Amino acid sequence: MASLFTKIIQREIPADIVYEDDHVVAFRDIAPVAPVHILIVPREEVTGVAALPDSGDHQHLLNAARKIAEAEGLGDGYRLVINQGEAAGQTVPHLHMHLLGGRDLAWPPG
Ligand code: AMP
Repeated sequence: MASLFTKIIQREIPADIVYEDDHVVAFRDIAPVAPVHILIVPREEVTGVAALPDSGDHQHLLNAARKIAEAEGLGDGYRLVINQGEAAGQTVPHLHMHLLGGRDLAWPPG
């Protein structure tokens, strides 16, 4: 069965899509934790980092993040987060990178 994010990528579920290319789709998180909170998702459905093939759409996540951060005006800084597994807080089993910005971000994260 298609993941929630595949359904968004296929336009079966609405989302505020801010960027897409041949490899990734990015949309605003439905429950943002920062003024800018965007999820960058590879089109290829992989459950998470632990299941990654050696090559694939996930290799384009960072380049997409740079372009989106520039477009969002995040020149002061931003954070990229991938939660892998339940213990790290992953709730959607389709690899995704959070792009967070627009406020100061504490370190270490919780
Ligand atoms: P994670 O906890 O790392 O798996 O992140 C999943 C993220 O997906 C959470 O930040 C949710 O708020 C977000 N999310 C869940 N459903 C949707 C949706 N329909 N549209 C946009 N973001 C969503």
